[in-house]
Amino acid sequence: MTEPAADTVPPILPPATIGILGGGQLGRMLGTAARALGYGVRVLDPDIDCPASAVADRVEVGAYDDVSAAVRLASGCAVITYELEHVDAALVDTIVTSGVPVRPGARALRVTQDRIAERRFVQDAGVAVAPWRPVTTGDDDALDAAIEELGAPIRLKAAFGGYDGRSQVRIATDRDRRLAWMDLGRPPGRPAIVERELRFADELSVIVARSVSGTVVPWCCARNVHDQGILVESEWPAALPEAVQADAAAIGTRLATGLDLVGLLTVELFLMPEGDLVVNELAPRVHNSGHATIEAAATSQFEQHIRMVCGLPHGDPAPLGSAAMVNLLGTGVRRPARLAGIEAALAEPAAHLHLYGKRDVVERRKMGHLTALGPTTGDALATARSAAERLSWMP
Ligand code: ATP
Ligand code: MG
Repeated sequence: MTEPAADTVPPILPPATIGILGGGQLGRMLGTAARALGYGVRVLDPDIDCPASAVADRVEVGAYDDVSAAVRLASGCAVITYELEHVDAALVDTIVTSGVPVRPGARALRVTQDRIAERRFVQDAGVAVAPWRPVTTGDDDALDAAIEELGAPIRLKAAFGGYDGRSQVRIATDRDRRLAWMDLGRPPGRPAIVERELRFADELSVIVARSVSGTVVPWCCARNVHDQGILVESEWPAALPEAVQADAAAIGTRLATGLDLVGLLTVELFLMPEGDLVVNELAPRVHNSGHATIEAAATSQFEQHIRMVCGLPHGDPAPLGSAAMVNLLGTGVRRPARLAGIEAALAEPAAHLHLYGKRDVVERRKMGHLTALGPTTGDALATARSAAERLSWMP
């Protein structure tokens, strides 16, 4: 199932069709970039009206482990990629066996969808992670021992299936400890990790793009702010000492090479008070913290990912200016998504609105984002926030 040597792999050229496993907002923005380059786009998603359906020639309706739907998708595509790491790895193997390459590939998927495998991979690559222990849900003795060794507060994270801060709980008090298994919401006997909570100075992310021939090109780091585990704001490029940017690029390059992936790798990082970097988690894909590259980089993360999976040369990752992105999260009870205040928000001429076309608004669901440019990332952030404040979801 390995691909032939890189220099013998011909590029996939437009008007070939690219298949995307997952039709959410990342699939939609990948599809938009693919279309701009002249490619066809098909997606696999359980929902025929998924966000990416607006830019897809066809939506293959199926779950992320529906092998027959995936094979149907692949039969019309020259290459397959994914917009989320919670795709069944065996499904990816089946597609590869059918003769259609999947990039970044099954290995990157297997490692990054399992927090335990991911932590081990990062450590084995000689890159720092927070001190951690594997545990099994329901095993009180192991949890107590891990908390004792690592020292509270700690984070208990399910090994599989987490995103946007779901599938993890913070344990700071005895009460948290008593409720931990219930709050984690996993049945007994499942793999999980316990990890020391770090007092970081900042959260950063670095995105790197690795080509079929193994060349890695990084973007500058983003500085990210999370609220209850969900990304709310990013500044790009983060104002950081040159040495930190270089460390982050080196970490991204080493990990992307170690995974042998083709496409993008996002590395979420903690910047510690002394300036050292600790890896939080990996995503073998485009990432929410890279959205500002659409307006603020010579090449966006979406275009670059399409270039990589098609075997084309890298675009220039250089910043064109200073930018900030604010996520538009849903609020209130589930209801049809109607956004008020769009004209007022766009009266801010430096602000750019992206809406993902989700039919229903749901509390804390990622519905869209706003990116602004400015003289500094701080100015850009103030502009993006001020535009976002003028928006609200109608009752
Ligand atoms: P996503 O996949 O959307 O990034 P996730 O559910 O996989 O989210 P993590 O990235 O593990 O979750 O954690 C989400 C956020 O919680 C982090 O960005 C950070 O703000 C906080 N966090 C997680 N682990 C730690 C830790 N060990 N120390 C301090 N903060 C942490
Ligand atoms: Mg994360």
